[in-house]
Amino acid sequence: MKCFLDRDGVFNIDYPYVGTIDRFCWCPQIFPILKLLHSQGYQLILITNQSGINRGYYSYRNFLDLSFYILNTLAEHSIDLEINYCRHKPEERCKCRKPEPGMLYRYSISDSDIFIGDKATDMIAAVRRGIPNRFLISSAPSGPYTEAFDCHASLLSRLTAALIPPTSTYACSPGKRRWDRL
Ligand SMILES: [Zn+2]
Repeated sequence: MKCFLDRDGVFNIDYPYVGTIDRFCWCPQIFPILKLLHSQGYQLILITNQSGINRGYYSYRNFLDLSFYILNTLAEHSIDLEINYCRHKPEERCKCRKPEPGMLYRYSISDSDIFIGDKATDMIAAVRRGIPNRFLISSAPSGPYTEAFDCHASLLSRLTAALIPPTSTYACSPGKRRWDRL
């Protein structure tokens, strides 16, 4: 099971072009979300556009330093994260920059897989790759999402309800899709 996640706006407050640790501010509730997914067996995979590198707003080295800061912080919570990034500007017309799905073609996809993003471009990349559960955190949702949440806390509630059995004898009925509405 895989959970793909956007970075800016999901992990951290989406100030434009966050490229250095001093401008990286963790979103509230992202740690319990990641912990819950990790504890339920989800592989956590970051899918992030970082055109700020090729635009010259910050260096590749800055991006790697920030990535190691994120990895080290998550490791303190025993959470592993696989990082995929696109450094290209739109006019470079690469196949990895969202809404293109190139970064997602590195992975096989199953019915239980999730994409969590905060922009329509995240949802478009996810639908192009056939990811069935597309969760959008946005107060003005748009794009091909399957469920929208106005904040991280409401997403956390949804994940908790779906992933944590209400009683110890709970069992999924055969054939029921994991993310069908409970
Ligand atoms: Zn690219």
